[in-house]
Amino acid sequence: MLGQWKYLAAATLLAPAAAQARVDYAVDLTSPEHHLGQVSAIFPKTSAPYLDVKMPAWRTGRYTILNLANGVRRFTAVDGQGHPLAWEKIDKSTWRIHLKQPGAVRVGYELYANELGLRTRHIDDSHAYLDASATFMYADRYRADDVSVALNVPTGWKSYSGMSSPGPQRFVAPNWDVLVDSPIETGIEKAYRFSEDGRDYEVTFWGDGNFDPDQAVADIRKIVPQAKSIWSGYPFQRYVFMVHATDGVGGATEHRNSTVIQIPRWNFQPRARYLDFLSTTAHEFIHTWNVKYYRNAGMVPYDYDRENYTDLLWLEEGSTEYFADPFLLRAGLMKADEYFENLARLVDRHHHKPGSAEQSVADASFNEWISVGGDRANNASVDIYDEGQIASWLLDIALLEQTGGRVSYRDVHEALYRRFPADRRGFTAADVRAILKELTGTSWDAWWAQNVDAPAAVDFDRLLAPVGLRLEAGPQAAWAGWSATAAPGGMQLRTVERGSPAWVAGFVPDDIIVAIDGKRVANDRFDAAVAERQPGNTVAVSYFRRDQLAEKRLTLASTPKSRPTIVPVAKPTPAQMALFQRWLLIPYPKAQ
Ligand SMILES: [Zn+2]
Repeated sequence: MLGQWKYLAAATLLAPAAAQARVDYAVDLTSPEHHLGQVSAIFPKTSAPYLDVKMPAWRTGRYTILNLANGVRRFTAVDGQGHPLAWEKIDKSTWRIHLKQPGAVRVGYELYANELGLRTRHIDDSHAYLDASATFMYADRYRADDVSVALNVPTGWKSYSGMSSPGPQRFVAPNWDVLVDSPIETGIEKAYRFSEDGRDYEVTFWGDGNFDPDQAVADIRKIVPQAKSIWSGYPFQRYVFMVHATDGVGGATEHRNSTVIQIPRWNFQPRARYLDFLSTTAHEFIHTWNVKYYRNAGMVPYDYDRENYTDLLWLEEGSTEYFADPFLLRAGLMKADEYFENLARLVDRHHHKPGSAEQSVADASFNEWISVGGDRANNASVDIYDEGQIASWLLDIALLEQTGGRVSYRDVHEALYRRFPADRRGFTAADVRAILKELTGTSWDAWWAQNVDAPAAVDFDRLLAPVGLRLEAGPQAAWAGWSATAAPGGMQLRTVERGSPAWVAGFVPDDIIVAIDGKRVANDRFDAAVAERQPGNTVAVSYFRRDQLAEKRLTLASTPKSRPTIVPVAKPTPAQMALFQRWLLIPYPKAQ
């Protein structure tokens, strides 16, 4: 480990002044069991009286403050001759190193990396996943300079990244911004390569599970060329999919020419779950354009010290989600009725989210940094994914309808791709509205005010009709308006829908329901006890709150018994069938 640092130090410090400065990073991962790595960084010669080095407060794709300096331990700083330099912390993320004379600075620290689910840093005895924002300190003054990374890894480990690799365990990037958006995966992986449409792809799998990697790679190969259905070009030559088959955690993060996708290892089956995996894969891949290549002006350039505000995250996350499943449809991986089922699920979630009448997608975007997330926020807020997807859907159908199928929402994203490369400039909501006007010849300001800047009042029948579809609601059934999970001795309420019978009766999340009309309601009996009654019936509900047993009376209301379904209309017109084809770029489904 030390030897390698010495080599790097010599290469950097003794070389004649290069035209371009370079920051050299090294990571030793040879004792990974305790989730620890040893990191060093050599910063070029400076004549300033001090050098500030820091860790980001967040990472891209996760719009919340993570305080990534919290994994740094045993910090040291030395000069080019190895003499210790005085340093102090000046804020939670910044170390100020004082220089007595001009020179290079080498910092070293131990990194605790045990945050798999955050997709920031994870080191264990089987692999390491290193997002640079959670691994490598940087200095503002060298942000534009070259960087190199050298890894020292256990025997047999192989390393992958979107960055260029000049040799085994080595990566280089033209600046910090490329490094920070190019995570490194290293370990014993199953790795695959293929080329498609003139671009090179790698797929790595860490972990075992109920998936067939050959099948997954074959299916990913069908997804990638679907990008041409939206964009006229690719913003990369090489792209890396890093799949983690994990336990417990799940999620995925986009990067400039790579992505990390985490799926609980047994969640690749049955088919609906496998399609979720492929849909997530398409989502992350779409982000390579929408978010990485072009993005909102509030994040150009990314400021890693603090929150970066925008009212457009709905367009970045929701629209990406909106485009994902149609990639699978066009690739022949998903059937039309499976797509309709996913849309119906989205409609159902919207109907059971009182917050969709309270918060606009623009407001949800701006406040994403303090979003509580999860079901419990449903009464007062929306998430940028679901409601952003609905706003994208509304806009797409409105565009298709107004222009007789000439303009779709895909055209808006092609225009963003051509005009707003993020290394030059970002776009604002006004820019998007200008593109809409240019494409259609009419102003979309009123539409925007109604559906983006205010909570959209969605008429799903109206949304589905132009493309020859309709919503079919299930029969009515008794309804309480709560959801719960099994807890010791009863069922613990997770959500209570605002205005529902449970809300009116005074129930709140965390109440533990133990009996309805004197009968214990464990697990499956909980839903059945409500479903077996009639709308309008009043029941006595026994529950614990703060360990105190109590009872309330609850009068049930009525709700559709099952999720709605989306089906083709009985007699579609040629215009509906043509617009459907322009909407999804697949033929209108034949009558069953
Ligand atoms: Zn996303």
